Amino acid sequence: MKSLQSYLDSNKDRFVQELFELLRIPSVSADSAYSKDVFKTADFVADSLKTAGCDAVEVCQTKGFPIIYGEKLIDPKLPTILVYGHYDVQPADPIELWDAPAFEPIIKKTDLHPEGAIFARGACDDKGQMYMHVKALEFMTSTDQLPCNVKFMIEGEEEVGSDNLAEFVKNNTTKLKNDVILISDTGMIAKDTPSITTGLRGLSYVEVEVTGPNRDLHSGIYGGAVANPINVLAKMIASLHDENNHITIPGFYF
Ligand SMILES: [Zn+2]
Repeated sequence: MKSLQSYLDSNKDRFVQELFELLRIPSVSADSAYSKDVFKTADFVADSLKTAGCDAVEVCQTKGFPIIYGEKLIDPKLPTILVYGHYDVQPADPIELWDAPAFEPIIKKTDLHPEGAIFARGACDDKGQMYMHVKALEFMTSTDQLPCNVKFMIEGEEEVGSDNLAEFVKNNTTKLKNDVILISDTGMIAKDTPSITTGLRGLSYVEVEVTGPNRDLHSGIYGGAVANPINVLAKMIASLHDENNHITIPGFYF
C-alpha cells in the first residue's frame, strides 16, 4: 500500500502547479468585473473533483455564482463526510501593498515562513485549504484507501455573504445528507501542529445612530443637563458585556 509520504513526494510538484493554476484565476466575487473568472474557477474546481475520483460532480447554478457538488460514495453503511469550502476570494486591494502581483503565485521565504510559503490572493483563504482536501481524496481514491463516503460542497460566494447557500442547502437535504461536516475554511495553529477547528464565532452588523442637539449648546447653561450622544453611545456599547465579558443581550446564548 502506497504511503501518504511517498505519494506526496512523487506528486508534490504537480500539486503545486495545479494549485498555482487555481490561484491565477482572479475569482473575486465582490467585483462584477471578475464575474467570468469566478465562473471559470467553478469549472476548474468541478474538473479537479472529477480528477480526484468523485463519481458525480455537478456545477449547480444559483442566482449568483455556482455551488460545486461532488461525491464519492463507496458504501451506504459507512459514515459520510461533507467537505465545505469556497473558491471565491477577497479583492486584492490595496494592490500597492503587494510586492508581487496578487494573482501570480510565488513561493517566498519570510521571517514567519523561513522554509518558504505560497503568496497569492486566496492561497490561504480558501483555495489552498480546499484544494488540500481535494488532493486528500485523490490520494485515498487512487491508492484504494478511502475509509468513508465523501461529499464536497464548494461555493463561490463566501466572501460576499453566501447569499444563495442557505436556499441550496434547503433544496438539497437528501443530496447533502452526512454524518460529519469538515470545513476547509480554517487554519493550522502552527506548521507542525495539525489542527481541527471545532467552532467559530459568527458576526452581526448593527448600525446605531444616536443624535443630540442640532446646534452648539452653551456649556454654562446646558453642560451636564443635556446628554452628549457620544456618552450615550459609549454607555450603550459598554453595556453589551458584563464584568465577566459575557454578552448581556437577552436571548443571545439561547
Ligand atoms: Zn474563507
